[in-house]
Amino acid sequence: MTELAYTEPKPKIIAGATGDWELVIGLEVHAQISSNSKLFSGASTKFGAEPNSNVSLVDAAMPGMLPVINEYCIEQAVRTGLGLKAKINLYSRFDRKNYFYPDLPQGYQISQLYHPIVGEGEVLVDMEPGVARRVRIERIHMEQDAGKSVHDMDPEMSFVDFNRTGVALMEIVSRPDMRSPEEAAEFVRKIRQIVRYLGTCDGNMQEGSMRADVNVSVCKAGTYEKFRENDDFSILGTRCEIKNMNSMRFIVQAIDCEAKRQIAILEDGGSINQETRLYDPVKGETRSMRSKEEAHDYRYFPCPDLLPLEIDQAWVDEIEAGLPELPDAKKARFVADFGMTEYDAGVLTADVASAEYYEAVAKGRDGKTAANWVINELFGRLNKEGHSISDSPISADQLGGILDLIAKGDISGKIGKDLFEIVWNDGGIPAEIVEAKGMKQVTDTGAIEAEVDKVMAANPDKVAAAKEKPNLAGWFVGQVMKATGGKANPKVVNEIIRKKLG
Ligand code: ADP
Ligand code: MG
Repeated sequence: MTELAYTEPKPKIIAGATGDWELVIGLEVHAQISSNSKLFSGASTKFGAEPNSNVSLVDAAMPGMLPVINEYCIEQAVRTGLGLKAKINLYSRFDRKNYFYPDLPQGYQISQLYHPIVGEGEVLVDMEPGVARRVRIERIHMEQDAGKSVHDMDPEMSFVDFNRTGVALMEIVSRPDMRSPEEAAEFVRKIRQIVRYLGTCDGNMQEGSMRADVNVSVCKAGTYEKFRENDDFSILGTRCEIKNMNSMRFIVQAIDCEAKRQIAILEDGGSINQETRLYDPVKGETRSMRSKEEAHDYRYFPCPDLLPLEIDQAWVDEIEAGLPELPDAKKARFVADFGMTEYDAGVLTADVASAEYYEAVAKGRDGKTAANWVINELFGRLNKEGHSISDSPISADQLGGILDLIAKGDISGKIGKDLFEIVWNDGGIPAEIVEAKGMKQVTDTGAIEAEVDKVMAANPDKVAAAKEKPNLAGWFVGQVMKATGGKANPKVVNEIIRKKLG
């Protein structure tokens, strides 16, 4: 696989009263594994079901119920690890993370603290063509989701919905490698793109299938480079964790205001408390939720109900062999094979459906022209009408048909756009529409010459002027195109006019 060349972005600098500050950001992305049943029970994971209808006895933590691991979920975690170029741990183990909360019937969450299933990996976070941040992944572990408390249904009471209880999550933890709010948002976007390519998580942030905890600290310029030399966390600033972010826009805003808050405190001679905070998008501020708990607060211990998880390298290899082509590789291939810009390749590989559509159009045709049409005409139109590529009114075959007619010279690019419009609205086979509606381009030089003569005869003054100033010839081209309803071959028209003007 070829990799596109890139340079790393400069860190964001925030000027303070005492000098320049820099940001250090690390993320924990919670991604719900796409699986029909939960991590340790057979209950359905379907979103939007009647409250408390997807709850098995295991999820409700009835006495004596035992968890049984869902093999499909393990496979998805391994796939995700491989997609993030990470080390797969053949031995992993489940631990109980103990805490009390009304939405947690067991009184503990089954997680993987000491031996996660996936170890160190990395992901390339694209900022702009040729600029990317390589962010190291620390680990991915599997854990159960909690239920949901509902506080707004009754003035006196709160309710709990256990449908989400026990649903399988992957927690993808980054190293503190991001240096601007935008990099953090793009990191989440890239993780979402990769899990969607892999099919291991639907990445739907509105439905809560993906959310991120954002860790932010600030330090003076130069500190971070020293940190990277020896991994000494003590020289970094104290971090705050902003919980449950579910939009890229809010991630950027939250980091911005959290960094400013920390800088103001530090410049005032104060110190930062390590704590968990919530972002309030209405007020544009982060608020303290609780002081940060340490691992020992949770009384972690190995879950006695589950054996350690041991998987075979052969199984991992098999999963690896079945991985699809991932975004970075696809993008590099599009640039190499179709001669398109990295920017266009990025747009066309944003999701699998777009890439597949494009490749179907480009097959056996000019790749650059196909890219222009897919990006400018099709995507532009889909966006405007709120369609997605999978419900495009124009199929790849139909768009390809339009491009063939243009390539053959049967229609001009301009008529091609009219044809696009017709196919978009009424469907049909492009070549047949062109026949039926008489849209074919006139390339018959005799007919075109007659039109040129007509226009010239009617405008002798313009002819004289154009003979002096050749760039006025364009006016005649416009007139002839108008007279022929846009059907004259513009190249032929141009040639004839230039010849006649001498
Ligand atoms: P916890 O579960 O206590 O939040 P984790 O190890 O799961 O701890 O996650 C810690 C996250 O915080 C990681 O993404 C890590 O990169 C990040 N992080 C650690 N120290 C800092 C720091 N000083 N500034 C910013 N981010 C940090
Ligand atoms: Mg955390």
